[in-house]
Amino acid sequence: MRPLVEPPNMQEGQRIPRYLEKLGFGPRDVDIVFIGHLHFDHVGGLHDLPGCTVHVQADEVAAARTGPDGSVFADELANSNQWEIKTGEYLVAPGVHAISSPGHTAGHMSLFIELQKGPPVILCGDAADLRENLVEEIAPGYCWQDNASLALGSIRKLKALESREKCELWPNHDMDFFMSLPRFPAWRD
Ligand SMILES: [Zn+2]
Repeated sequence: MRPLVEPPNMQEGQRIPRYLEKLGFGPRDVDIVFIGHLHFDHVGGLHDLPGCTVHVQADEVAAARTGPDGSVFADELANSNQWEIKTGEYLVAPGVHAISSPGHTAGHMSLFIELQKGPPVILCGDAADLRENLVEEIAPGYCWQDNASLALGSIRKLKALESREKCELWPNHDMDFFMSLPRFPAWRD
């Protein structure tokens, strides 16, 4: 997303616990939340998940605390008692790998997920928020310290993983792509 955009008003039915209910779960069933980056549209629901462990990258926290990124909200940084600070790439859970993809933000991470059926998926996050970022190798609209080359390097890294691991890259703000997926509460195995 771009900086300094006002978040839309959220409806009660859009809160994370309401979505979990539809799957027969509650907030206490969630052990770990993986944060790809600290922009408000990626962390704004955390207070609905008390008691879980929140994985956040050290570089992301350090950069956010310097203050110039208008899409990181101070009250969300203040609520850090659930955070487990991580450094670099690691195994989040069996079959779930944290992939470093900086550029959109200083410590941006993507998520490589092995599935029971079909090819693995990489949730690109905002390293590639739209398909055109991947297909045409265009840096995201916002780059940390205007460092487009860092962001482009991450896009190329994700594409190299796609070809090496035979996985799918999912851009995470692309409405056309989103509409091509099964609609919640349906899912892909
Ligand atoms: Zn973002």
